[in-house]
Amino acid sequence: MDCLFCKIVNKEIPAQIVFEDERVIAFNDINPQAPHHVLVIPKKHIATTNEISDEDTALVGRMHQAAAEIADSLGFAQDGYRSVLNCNTHGGQTVYHIHLHLLGGKPLGWPPYTEKLKQPL
Ligand code: 5GP
Ligand code: ZN
Repeated sequence: MDCLFCKIVNKEIPAQIVFEDERVIAFNDINPQAPHHVLVIPKKHIATTNEISDEDTALVGRMHQAAAEIADSLGFAQDGYRSVLNCNTHGGQTVYHIHLHLLGGKPLGWPPYTEKLKQPL
């Protein structure tokens, strides 16, 4: 399968890995959007959050738990952070292997988009 993040899981392409266990791996985003920007991914290939099956629910929970552990180990858990999962085109997904963006190290703006809404909600 030609999947960028599966290649990182298999160590076929390099990444700055900050955490790894049997089920998940986490590495620094190549284009960071905050002082800390880590991607937490399952080792199992799941293309989008629409494909999360019943057997994956604990795995997705582990992604969130690992993100909290990484935030703690990097020293920003108490100040806080944001975790984001983008899905498909409207969500801005560009890599089709689910990944939790862990963003921290500064106060983050909300809402996260910068483009003005062209139409009312
Ligand atoms: P998405 O837009 O799919 O939610 O997020 C994909 C993320 O993967 C982006 O933030 C992008 O910077 C990051 N990314 C893309 N290619 C690579 C890569 O080869 N290595 C790393 N470490 N991050 C990548
Ligand atoms: Zn994959």
